[in-house]
Amino acid sequence: MKLPKLSLYIHIPWCLKKCPYCDFYSQSIKKRIPEKKYIKNLILDLEKDLKFAQSRKIYSIFIGGGTPNLIQPKYIKILIKEIKKRTIFSKNIEITLESNPESINKNFFFKYKLAGINRISLGIQSFNEKILKNIQRKYSYENLIKKIKIIKKINFKNINFDLMYGLPNQKLKHIKFDINTAISLKPSHISWYQLCIEKNTPFYKNTPILPKENKINIMQKNGKKILKKNKFYQYEISSYSKKNNQCKHNINYWKYGDYIGIGCGSHGKITLSNKKIIRTYKNKNIYEFLNGKHIKKISFINKEDRLLEFFMNNFRLNKPCSRKNFKNFTGINEKYIKKEISKAIQKKYIIQKKKYWKTTKLGKLFLNNLLEIFIKK
Ligand code: SF4
Repeated sequence: MKLPKLSLYIHIPWCLKKCPYCDFYSQSIKKRIPEKKYIKNLILDLEKDLKFAQSRKIYSIFIGGGTPNLIQPKYIKILIKEIKKRTIFSKNIEITLESNPESINKNFFFKYKLAGINRISLGIQSFNEKILKNIQRKYSYENLIKKIKIIKKINFKNINFDLMYGLPNQKLKHIKFDINTAISLKPSHISWYQLCIEKNTPFYKNTPILPKENKINIMQKNGKKILKKNKFYQYEISSYSKKNNQCKHNINYWKYGDYIGIGCGSHGKITLSNKKIIRTYKNKNIYEFLNGKHIKKISFINKEDRLLEFFMNNFRLNKPCSRKNFKNFTGINEKYIKKEISKAIQKKYIIQKKKYWKTTKLGKLFLNNLLEIFIKK
């Protein structure tokens, strides 16, 4: 069984303030972040997971959160340096720092670049102040543009903007404004996704009035049209990029690649030499994590889950899904899904070629129905 590419996800679990729609694991800063101790524990956490990874090169690194740009550059520099000492970086490694525009500081970003960060992902959500207020984000349009221009001046070539649709009181005119403003600022990548009300968030308990489904469909159609016209190519359900600027890290997830997850509340997926695949879950308790209790649980991914996870991820991509990768990355023989594949073809959700499967327009439209076929009863 060929091993998939290996990425590294690093979780920074602090934010200035919790947003009411967000279910990522993070907490509002109450006092100073214990940066030095946290970075030291991230490295210790990594050392434990590296024994599962069989000296594979690191294909991409994503420092996410939370708000990683709250961490001082000197600690990001130490972090990257210490990872590099213990692993081999692949040529052209992509190293992303997820950032909140509210806390952009010119000096910090200049030094992040020197430390090795080569991709910035900015959580903008909207350029409209009223819409931002509805999701309890407080920055002004002018300030937002000013902060983005700082990043552009530092000359980060690879910049992603996260934008959302389906937000409270959002209308078609807001969507057009958001996307056109984003395009005018020339990012290389735009992630444009719909607000989902997740359990355990304040919005789940007190859900604001959201745009109706038919309005959301119109927003979606129009947004896609503007992005396409401006040469942002859709390569995944919510991801659009300029040519050759797709996010390597996320593509590895969607191809069912491996990733080591380090940091409080993170998780990972690693294929072992005996072909078994493990999922690692890290401790969510920050105090315990800082005191060396990094791992919460490690479990094997069973055959049924491997099968479903492979298709759940691969069918998000606009590219065909490799049959060889199915065998190599799940360790499952195609015979095991013969019935399911026939059913998906018969329903006209996918087509099958010698080397790949590809979702049809119908399959994309009814993705949940297509995936249901692969749930082994
Ligand atoms: S800043 Fe980002 S990670 Fe933090 S709570 Fe808001 S959406 Fe979540």
